[in-house]
Amino acid sequence: RAKEAGRGGFCFYAGEMNAQAHRRLDLENGLRRALAEGQLEVHYQPQVSLADGRVSGVEALVRWRHPRDGMIGPAEFIPIAEETGLIVPLGEHVLRTACKQLADWDRRGLVVPRLAVNLSARQFRQPDLADRVCRILDEIGLSSSRLELEITESTVMRDADDSVETLRRLRARGISVAIDDFGTGYSSLSQLKRLPIDTLKIDRSFIEGIPGSAEDVAIVGAIAAMARSLGLKLVAEGVEHPAQRDFLRTVECEEAQGWLFGRPLPADVFVCNHASGRAVSPADGGAVASCA
Ligand code: C2E
Ligand code: MG
Ligand code: MG
Ligand code: MG
Repeated sequence: RAKEAGRGGFCFYAGEMNAQAHRRLDLENGLRRALAEGQLEVHYQPQVSLADGRVSGVEALVRWRHPRDGMIGPAEFIPIAEETGLIVPLGEHVLRTACKQLADWDRRGLVVPRLAVNLSARQFRQPDLADRVCRILDEIGLSSSRLELEITESTVMRDADDSVETLRRLRARGISVAIDDFGTGYSSLSQLKRLPIDTLKIDRSFIEGIPGSAEDVAIVGAIAAMARSLGLKLVAEGVEHPAQRDFLRTVECEEAQGWLFGRPLPADVFVCNHASGRAVSPADGGAVASCA
C-alpha cells in the first residue's frame, strides 16, 4: 500500500512539475513580448508620513496585463525576468515610466515628493548602475534627489563589500537608497552600520502581528530604536489596520505604506484618490479636473 501511495505521489509530483515548467516557459516567452508590446504597467502605492498623514512618496510596482491570463503580479514574473536577464530592460522600463509619471505629476501640480523604485539583484550588480540611472533621470529632466531605489536586504548582504561601493556611487549622485524587506535577510548590526543608506523598510511579516504579538511588538520596537540611533528613516510595509498605525506612531516610525493608506493603483486612479484625499490638498485644479 505504501508503495502504491509512493508511486501515486511521484506521478502527481511529476505532473505538477510538468505544469509548472510549462507555465514558466510560457511566461518566459511571453515576457519578451510583454516588454516589446507594452503589456507591463506600473502601479503606484502611497507612502505616508505618520506625523501628519501627508503623502511623502510613492512606490512604483510593476504588473503584467497578460492578454489571455489577465493581471499577473510581480512575484510570479520578476524571478523569471531575473534568471533570464530580461530584468535589466524590464527594470529600466519601470524606472523610465515611473520617472516620466512623476515629471507629469509635477507639471500638473500634484505633490508627490519622492518616487521609490525596486531594483533587482542583477540590476544592482551592474557595474555602471549609477550611470544608467542618471542617464534616465537626465533624459526626463528629473532631479536625482526625488528618487529612492529599494534593494532587498538579502541582495545587499550577498556581497557586502561590492554593495557598499555601489551604494556610495548612487548616493554620490544624490540618489537615496532604501533597504527593502528589512528583517528577513539576517544582516548583522555591524554589517548594517557600514552600509551607506537612507531608509529601512520593515518587512510586512513583522507588521502583521502588531499589536497582538508580543514578539512582533518587541522586534518592531527594536528596529525603530536602531533606525533612529543610526539616523535612518523608517518605513513600515503592509500596514492594514489603524491599530498598526497607532503602534507605529508610538515607536516614532516616520512613514508607513499599506492598504490602510492606499493600494497600488494605476497612475490615473492614484491621482483621483490623492487629489481628493483629505491629507493632501491639490496644489491646483489640474489634477482634480483630470479625474472627472
Ligand atoms: P515589495 O517591494 O516589498 O513591495 C511591497 C508589496 O507588498 C507589493 O506587492 C504591494 O502590493 C504589497 N502590499 C502593499 N501594501 C500591502 C498591505 O497592506 N497588505 C498586503 N498584504 N500587501 C501589501 P507586489 O506589488 O505584488 O510586489 C511584490 C514584490 O515584487 C515587491 O515587493 C518587489 O520585491 C517586487 N517588485 C515589484 N515591482 C518591481 C519592479 O519594478 N522591479 C523589481 N525588481 N521588483 C519589483
Ligand atoms: Mg519595494
Ligand atoms: Mg518591501
Ligand atoms: Mg516586502
